[in-house]
Amino acid sequence: MSRNLARASCPYCDGRVVLEEEPRPVRHEEAGVYFMEYRDVLVVANAHCEDCEAQYLAWVEHRGSAGHLAWPMEPGQTHRDLSFRSTFNDEPGDADLPKHIVLRVPVRVGPWPPGKWNLTDDELKAAQEAAQAKARYR
Ligand SMILES: [Zn+2]
Repeated sequence: MSRNLARASCPYCDGRVVLEEEPRPVRHEEAGVYFMEYRDVLVVANAHCEDCEAQYLAWVEHRGSAGHLAWPMEPGQTHRDLSFRSTFNDEPGDADLPKHIVLRVPVRVGPWPPGKWNLTDDELKAAQEAAQAKARYR
């Protein structure tokens, strides 16, 4: 068992995990017996998967023992790692589990490489409708 999942996207559906609040220091009630290890070095935010709604605690900033960032953030990233929110580890509690089944449907929209083609608005709309029809769940 580990405190973190070592990933920034949802492990259930690979969906984008979005922050629900401004980043803040980890709280004692969240980290439990690990609070002394993570206080003053871990900045977190409640977060959820925007597709399946699994619940996470996003790791926004983590400083190592020398005060250096444990990992650099890449441009556009809001967080670098995750814990399940109710357990502060890599195994979910019931409250953290997804609320929806998510299907990812590949749709071909043009030849490779992408720089050699452009979709018109009508072609894009047709591709989106094809994806929705393919994804319809019976
Ligand atoms: Zn998800």
